[in-house]
Amino acid sequence: MAKDFLAGTKDRYDVVVIGSGLAGLTGANVLAKQGYSVLLLEHHYQLGGMATWFKRRGGHIFDISLHGFPVGMKKSCRKYWTDEIAESIVQLKGIRFENPQFSLRTTFTREDFTRIITDEFGIPFETVDQFFATARSMNFYDDQSKTTRELFEEFFPGRSDVHRLLMEPITYANGSTMEDPAITYGIVFSNFMSKGVFTFQGGTDKLVQQMKAELEANGVDIRIRSLVEEVEVTPDRRVTAVVVNGKRVECGAVLSNANIKSTILKLVGEEHFDPEYVDEAKAVRLNNSSCQVYIGLKPGVSFDDSCGDLLFHSEHTGFDVDAMLSKDVSSRTFSFYYPQTRPGSDRWLIVSSTNANYDDWANLPEDQYEADKQHLCETTLDCLEQYVPNIREKLDWIEASTPRTFKHYTRHLEGASFGTKFEGLKVSQTLPEQIHGLFHAGSVGIIMSGWLGAVNYGVITSNEVDKYLTPAEATV
Ligand SMILES: Cc1cc2nc3c(=O)[nH]c(=O)nc-3n(C[C@H](O)[C@H](O)[C@H](O)COP(=O)(O)OP(=O)(O)OC[C@H]3O[C@@H](n4cnc5c(N)ncnc54)[C@H](O)[C@@H]3O)c2cc1C
Repeated sequence: MAKDFLAGTKDRYDVVVIGSGLAGLTGANVLAKQGYSVLLLEHHYQLGGMATWFKRRGGHIFDISLHGFPVGMKKSCRKYWTDEIAESIVQLKGIRFENPQFSLRTTFTREDFTRIITDEFGIPFETVDQFFATARSMNFYDDQSKTTRELFEEFFPGRSDVHRLLMEPITYANGSTMEDPAITYGIVFSNFMSKGVFTFQGGTDKLVQQMKAELEANGVDIRIRSLVEEVEVTPDRRVTAVVVNGKRVECGAVLSNANIKSTILKLVGEEHFDPEYVDEAKAVRLNNSSCQVYIGLKPGVSFDDSCGDLLFHSEHTGFDVDAMLSKDVSSRTFSFYYPQTRPGSDRWLIVSSTNANYDDWANLPEDQYEADKQHLCETTLDCLEQYVPNIREKLDWIEASTPRTFKHYTRHLEGASFGTKFEGLKVSQTLPEQIHGLFHAGSVGIIMSGWLGAVNYGVITSNEVDKYLTPAEATV
C-alpha cells in the first residue's frame, strides 16, 4: 500500500505553510516560535526548494544554488534561525572575471571594486564613491521609474566595460537586466558590496538538516511528498483549509511559498479575486530559468586554487542579456567547490550555471532533449579546459539540468529561478487584501529573491500572519 505521508496530521492548524523554500522554512520557524501550530507541506521528498543538493554514485554531492549570497544572511540566520547556522557562513574571496573586455580578480567588496574601477578602468575616485553612495541609499520607497541603464549612464556614460563589471554578476545571479528598476539593482548590489560574497560551509544539505532540526524542536509538523492541490476560501474570501494529497486540513491562515502566480491562479482560482487583481497577477512576468552542468572529479583529484571560487566567464564582446540567455551558450558562471566546502571531503567539484529560457527546452522531443543536454555538457567541458587542463581525464561524473528540471522539482512556472520580475512583489504583498488569511512569501521582484531575500521575506510575511491571527488590542 502507498505510504500515507500525512498520517497523524491534526484536523486543524493555526497556519499551513505551502512549500519549504527558504522563505517557507523561515516563515514556518518564526511562526512556530511565536507559539502557533504550524503544518509545513512540501511536495518534493527533500526540504529547501531551490536551496537544494543531490548525491551521485561515488560520493559526489552537488549544490544547486550555493554560489554566493551577501553577508546579511549571517545576521538573518542568527536572528531567525540559530547561532550554529550563522557560524557556518564564511566569505568567498576568489571572484574572477574573464571576458573580452577584461580579466580580473576581486574579493567583491566595495573597497576592492573601487580600486578596480579607479586604477584599472581609470574612473575618478569621487565618481565611484558617489555611485556607491547612491546605490546604497536606494530603498524600496524610492522612484521606481529609473532603470539600471539610466543609473549607469548617469555615473559612467558610454563605459560598457564598467557597466559589464557592475551588472554581469547580478544578471548571472538573478536574471535582472539593465531595463529593470534601478532600485532593484541598488539594493542587491549594495547588499553584496557591503562585505563581499559568502557561502555556507558544510553545504546545503547541512544547512537544511540544521533548519529541519530547529523546526522540529519548535514543534513544526513537517510533511514531505505532500502536494497542496487547493487553498479553500469562503464566498466572503476567507481562508479555511487546504487540500493536500486529497486530504482537507483546516487552518486559520495560509502562508504560500509556491510561485505567486500559481498560488493565485491555480491553488485558489481566479474566480475568488477582484478581476483587476487577476489581470495584474496574469501580467506579472516570470523570471528566466537556468541550466547547470555538474562536474565531479575523481576522488582526490584536484584543480588549482587559482581557479578561484566563482568565475564569470564570457566570450561575448560586450554585455548582452540576450546572449546570456541563449541556448547557444557563450557565458557561464563556474562555481569551484574545494574539499573545505564540506570539511573532511576529498572532492573537488565544479558547477557551471547559465541563464536560460524555458521555451528553448520545454517542448523538445525526448531524444533531442537528451542530445542537447549532452551537447551542453561537452561544450562546458571544452570551455572549462582552459581553467582545468585535462578536465576530461580528471572527470568522474557529469550531468546537466535544464529549466525543465527546475520546474519539475520546485513547481515554479517555466522553472523560473528567481520567481518573478519586480511587479510580482506588489501582487504578493497585496494578496491578503484579496483573501483574508492568505499570505505569500517567496521569490518575487529580485529584492525578495535569492537566499537572503527569501529568508527575509519569510520573516516579513510571518509578521503579517501573526498580526492577522492575533490582532493588536485596541488602545484606549
Ligand atoms: C540555478 C540556481 C542558482 C542559484 N544561485 C543562487 C545563489 O548563488 N545565491 C542566492 O542567494 N540565490 C541563488 N538562487 C536563488 C535562490 O536559490 C532562490 O531565490 C531561493 O532559494 C528561493 O526560495 P523561495 O523561498 O522563494 O522558494 P523556492 O526555493 O522556490 O521553493 C518553493 C517550494 O515550494 C514547493 N511547492 C511549490 N508548490 C507547492 C505545492 N503546491 N505543494 C507543496 N509544495 C509546493 C516547492 O517544491 C519548493 O520546495 C539560485 C537559483 C537557481 C535556480
